[in-house]
Amino acid sequence: MPRIVNFALLLCVGIGMTAYAADQDQAKVVKINDSIYMAPVTGNVYMVITPAGNVIIDTASSDQAAEARKLLLAENHGSVKYIILTHGHADHIGGIPLWKEAGTQIIAQRNYFEFVNYVTRLQGFFAPRNAAAFGRPPGEVGPWAGNFGAKIDPTILFDEKYEFTLGGVQFELFSTPGETPDHLTVWLPAYKIAFMGDNYAGIGIPEPMSFPNIYALRGTKPRWALDWINSIDKVLSLKPDVVLSGHGDPIIGKEEITRRLTRYRNAIQYVHDEVVKGMNAGKDVYTLMQEIKLPASYDLSQVFGKVSWSVRGIYDGYAGWFDMNPATMYELPPSSVYPDLVKLAGGPERLVRLALEKLGADKPVEALHLTDVVLAYDEKNNAALGARLKALDYLRERCENYVEAGWLEYGIRTTKEKLASK
Ligand SMILES: [Zn+2]
Repeated sequence: MPRIVNFALLLCVGIGMTAYAADQDQAKVVKINDSIYMAPVTGNVYMVITPAGNVIIDTASSDQAAEARKLLLAENHGSVKYIILTHGHADHIGGIPLWKEAGTQIIAQRNYFEFVNYVTRLQGFFAPRNAAAFGRPPGEVGPWAGNFGAKIDPTILFDEKYEFTLGGVQFELFSTPGETPDHLTVWLPAYKIAFMGDNYAGIGIPEPMSFPNIYALRGTKPRWALDWINSIDKVLSLKPDVVLSGHGDPIIGKEEITRRLTRYRNAIQYVHDEVVKGMNAGKDVYTLMQEIKLPASYDLSQVFGKVSWSVRGIYDGYAGWFDMNPATMYELPPSSVYPDLVKLAGGPERLVRLALEKLGADKPVEALHLTDVVLAYDEKNNAALGARLKALDYLRERCENYVEAGWLEYGIRTTKEKLASK
């Protein structure tokens, strides 16, 4: 599977899911036109040059920001009058301190305030999940900053629309919630260029693009599908000649932009509407995760987002956790009776054997569930850990989605650690 191996090589950093090949050549600046340059690092950074000073759109992750700045300063040294943040993910806001000068205005959509506070509020929760998802050691988590303890850099927060003119260049900013609730689109009518952050190609995946993550496994508030669709429609209504994203290459040409963005928004709409129809028909979330498939005509891969995760994200976003089963109203999970089941089976051996039989019958997920049952009874059971490792390896070898691959590798790593700790 060369494709997934390549994606696994991508180094993903920050709260925002981003891609930057660890072994790729030194990033080179991309000239969009005589006034606009792009530094393609972890989170593309854009410089718009005007006779009255410059505007920086996004600032990259903190570990890549200096490199991006060096590339762009080689093109123009004008003072930075505005920094515009397409959204509050770490791979877009890490370089703010490097670019900020006395008098620089920093602009974000108003939901930025809650978004960065939410990320900071739950820092202790997110830290191990980000570390697990991105295969890196957990970062230091300081003392709790409180509910509203985030550093808020923007000096201008707007609701629906914000406009300004600098050096004769008009900038129009629109609220376009999607991957995050604070997403904004920057529209430069003079150049017919739209900067749309991570609402398309969140990870800079080449064609065919991947279906998005309407739910992110590392944890996220609902990413409202209908908002996302409306936001893409907003960009399409501008009829841009060029679309510039937070990751990946520019999309150039009205026809190509229309083709790609329409396909993407239609795919989100299709999945959303199928979930809603299924919910109204009384179907449970697991049934819909199994039933809803993206028709091949959309020609989108699932190397980044997975339709089944998005189905559950949409379902749970609308309905929350209760599934009409009175047993699930209470504090005890199903696993509270797993040890009893192991005893009933006469000990772990038969269940481990059954897990291996399931694996042999191409049912690795059922094998994993069975090892969960045994490990609830004896968390150090060697045979169950061994069967679990085999099931995880089986899934990993066949996995074509690199978020899934990351979590499977996390499972493999932690299972091996448990086996070694005996
Ligand atoms: Zn990003």
